[in-house]
Amino acid sequence: MIQQIYPQVIHPFRYELNKDMQIAAAHFIPHEAAGQCANMHGHTYFINITVAGDELDDSGFLINFQQLKKLIHNRFDHTVMNDHKDVFSDTAAEHFPTTEVVARKIAEIVQEHLDTLPNKPTCVQVFVRESPTSYVVYRPKAGKQ
Ligand SMILES: [Zn+2]
Repeated sequence: MIQQIYPQVIHPFRYELNKDMQIAAAHFIPHEAAGQCANMHGHTYFINITVAGDELDDSGFLINFQQLKKLIHNRFDHTVMNDHKDVFSDTAAEHFPTTEVVARKIAEIVQEHLDTLPNKPTCVQVFVRESPTSYVVYRPKAGKQ
């Protein structure tokens, strides 16, 4: 996490902010194809959120770093991902808490908040490392998540 180089995202904005955070959480993937991952187990997720925009707010921020931590870390740290029924589902694959879906959900939660800000920043990338050898990068497409 510290001093790690993340995959870069090409975007047209003037400012780009990156927030790292670490989340300890459990999950299981409720599908027979998941093998051992169908059993409850834990990860230390390393997450990097990239927010970009052309305008800053009245405080000179794209978004306050602490706000991003509150939105994601405070919500999911030391929890079971599957328990967040407002975010994940055990019956619909597009809402299983796989690394891919976790990355997309984080992008959606962040963007929902960014949409309330007057300077209208955009979440352009979410990086989620689930283990030392596995990570996912999610990049929302313009106009849809
Ligand atoms: Zn897992």
